[in-house]
Amino acid sequence: MAVIHEHNKTLYPVIVQHVRTLQVLMFAFADDEALRLTRETGYAHFYSRSRQALWKKGETSGHVQPVIDIRTDCDQDTYLYLVDSPYPACHLNRDSCFGDAPKAPADPLTRLMAIIRDRLAAGDLEHSYSAKMVTGPLERLLKKIGEEAIEVIIAAAQSQSAPDTVPARATKDDLTWETVDLLYHLAALLTRFDLPLEALQAEVEHRHRPTESDA
Ligand code: AMP
Ligand code: ZN
Ligand code: ZN
Ligand code: ZN
Repeated sequence: MAVIHEHNKTLYPVIVQHVRTLQVLMFAFADDEALRLTRETGYAHFYSRSRQALWKKGETSGHVQPVIDIRTDCDQDTYLYLVDSPYPACHLNRDSCFGDAPKAPADPLTRLMAIIRDRLAAGDLEHSYSAKMVTGPLERLLKKIGEEAIEVIIAAAQSQSAPDTVPARATKDDLTWETVDLLYHLAALLTRFDLPLEALQAEVEHRHRPTESDA
């Protein structure tokens, strides 16, 4: 049981997480009244153990926390407030009581875009392959994309034609290698046409927006 009993109250641990950045912001306790007020007002309420009183987050600092969603854990003795607050959650004026958000490794396409951007910024158009792909003749880049796409196809087809003679690991390595080659050249193309990944993301979201039947 994660609850604690103090001054004849049942106190539930509450984890507060930012609903958009996903950063874990703070930890506190809530009693039944704090949970009820959080649900009713849409603002995070807790129980202050030091002051032995109901505590609306931000009541003195102004750093209130609009609560978008409240979840409980598997056995309903711990709560998660998902908040959307622009204010620091910690009374030391830091976004989170737990320090900076851990940096998730960027996905491969984001990394490739960043590498190409860095190479261009370095300005060595003579020696940088990336810079040449982005600023050189378009035909050369398009030809490379065609070649790399075919290499992806060959790598995939080889693993299918000889499933037990070719060691699976080797063909998977080939497929990985060729897919990165293709993505790299696609990243160069996007950079060349000034198309940020955000534009692709918007298109994906647009195509797959939840329908009313999902809701
Ligand atoms: P606030 O709710 O931001 O107006 O702060 C009121 C008081 O609650 C502060 O003086 C702190 O003692 C305490 N407090 C605020 N934020 C936190 C937090 N994230 N963790 C623990 N105590 C806090
Ligand atoms: Zn639990
Ligand atoms: Zn803190
Ligand atoms: Zn290749």
